Amino acid sequence: MTTRVLLLGGTGEARRLASVLVGDGGWEVLYSLAGRVREPRVPASCRVRVGGFGGPEGLAAVLRDEQTDILVDATHPFAARMSASAATAAVAAGTPLVLLRRPGWLAQPNDDWRRVPSMTAAAQLVDDTGADRVFLTTGRGDLAAFAGLGRPWFLIRCVEEPAAPLPLRREIILDRGPFDVEAEWTLLRRHAIDVVVTKDSGGTMTAAKLTAARQLGVPIIVVDRPPTPPGAAVVGSVEETLVWLRRWRRP
Ligand code: NAP
Repeated sequence: MTTRVLLLGGTGEARRLASVLVGDGGWEVLYSLAGRVREPRVPASCRVRVGGFGGPEGLAAVLRDEQTDILVDATHPFAARMSASAATAAVAAGTPLVLLRRPGWLAQPNDDWRRVPSMTAAAQLVDDTGADRVFLTTGRGDLAAFAGLGRPWFLIRCVEEPAAPLPLRREIILDRGPFDVEAEWTLLRRHAIDVVVTKDSGGTMTAAKLTAARQLGVPIIVVDRPPTPPGAAVVGSVEETLVWLRRWRRP
């Protein structure tokens, strides 16, 4: 019998999970994207839907309409609204929920990391430290917090063109990972970056900047993750998710 999975995506792990399930046989996967990126990377050979559900009620209705057996939340660790909505909808629809959260990054010897609880706190710290040239890798949705800082110059990297409000003194690079250490090292050097700002996204796709900053002795402001909502079975990798899913698969 087929087991129907609604997979909330937008990450490399979500795509990999979808591909494994499709190849495994016995699974019907509906892959869901928010629709933020114009040319999203989508997994081959599974149904894809794009756009918000209209809050937890909308998602619960989809879970019921699709007769979903399992909801998998494999969104980015900072997609807090979607994860909260998934937790509420899963309870409302009586659908088991598994939350795939890749582990956060850990500082290594010689790292100069300053952890902050929010993007606003990160902007405040940039101001307090008197940094001159800031590499902002927080994504285009989180730039407003820095818009009020008129003194430092910002190198902003995101996947798509960001919208205002933006810091006045800036250069924008449109690029998406994976990035390698040598290129990140060169980028930090070429722009004489004296502080990097990142979310604690975890994973390997964008971790090269951490190594490059360590090698160059550049400090990093790391924005902590939002808490995970209660109620889900939390796993840390695609492999663990598969173990969990296979346990719940229909006979
Ligand atoms: P968010 O703030 O948690 O979500 C805002 C709203 O977007 C949600 O309430 C939901 O709308 C809709 N949404 C989000 N993810 C969705 C999905 N996979 N399928 C359908 N609707 C979705 O999310 P975000 O931080 O803007 O991230 C949006 C997407 O980009 C996520 O899929 C995430 O995995 C991916 N992403 C985010 C980041 C990041 O740094 N935040 C980085 C890389 C990738 P409704 O309430 O209408 O259902």
